[in-house]
Amino acid sequence: MDIVDRIKKLKDEKKAIILAHNYQCPEVQDIADFIGDSLGLSIQASKTDASVIVFCGVYFMAETAKILSPQKTVLIPDKNAGCPMADMITAKELQGLKKDYPKAKVLCYVNTPAEVKAECDICCTSANAIKIVNGPLRDEKEIIFAPDKYLTHYVSAQTGRTFVYRHGYCPTHVRILAKDISEKKKLYPNAEVIVHPECTPEVIKLADKVLSTEGMCKYAKSSNAKELIVGTETGLIYRLRKESPDKLFYPATEEATCPNMKLVTLEKILWALEDMKHEVVIEDNLRQKARLAVDRMIQSSRVD
Ligand code: SF4
Repeated sequence: MDIVDRIKKLKDEKKAIILAHNYQCPEVQDIADFIGDSLGLSIQASKTDASVIVFCGVYFMAETAKILSPQKTVLIPDKNAGCPMADMITAKELQGLKKDYPKAKVLCYVNTPAEVKAECDICCTSANAIKIVNGPLRDEKEIIFAPDKYLTHYVSAQTGRTFVYRHGYCPTHVRILAKDISEKKKLYPNAEVIVHPECTPEVIKLADKVLSTEGMCKYAKSSNAKELIVGTETGLIYRLRKESPDKLFYPATEEATCPNMKLVTLEKILWALEDMKHEVVIEDNLRQKARLAVDRMIQSSRVD
């Protein structure tokens, strides 16, 4: 039996599903029951009847799945798959900011550890950040927005609002340079440029559209453009090509590869199911506090 068959057999035996983030390697995406962004996958995790969720992504994503599905066993195939951006703010640092700005509401990117989510009022993703700022936070005078300074910059430019912010960033998205986009535009003059809001303002300035990963997948299907230059982690290109085979996708740069996302392999998925490891555990009080912020985001996104 090859490794894929062994994983499928174990999945059935353990009543498990495999969720894979858009940035995972092609072979991991191919074996997944669902592919998507971090929040979409966590919502999927909460809806499934499966009792075991193998989350192929980075740690904060598996944690978010556990926050929403406490009764399920959530496994992450490689416990070292962290997100450097998520670790650019700690609960202690956020507590300090809250003391400095006692009247401020706290908006946290979903790319944060559970301890940080527990300290914030509401979460957001790159897809709904503008909606949240214009929606539930529209009357707030002061907002702390953490940890991604580039997402904050983009949301500020789109909404005209100012934020108290952190200097966090995604080490993978900052590898996409304005000169990469300019060079690709010269090579493919008919291509549209789509980039992620975690990119720098210089890159965003050169884009036709600024979109989350799910937004990019939807846009690629509906757009008339036959060629697209894609400014995000390179793993998304595989899904884009699969879903829109009639179009051509060019990564803005091959350098935009997240080493943490690539830690998950088929072997590690197999071992996770064989040994039921590495289980994500969150202390209940902390989980309930973090859940409030995640639930507020989900509700606000639905209402709008
Ligand atoms: S691509 Fe960036 S934000 Fe996403 S997991 Fe990697 S480091 Fe974190």
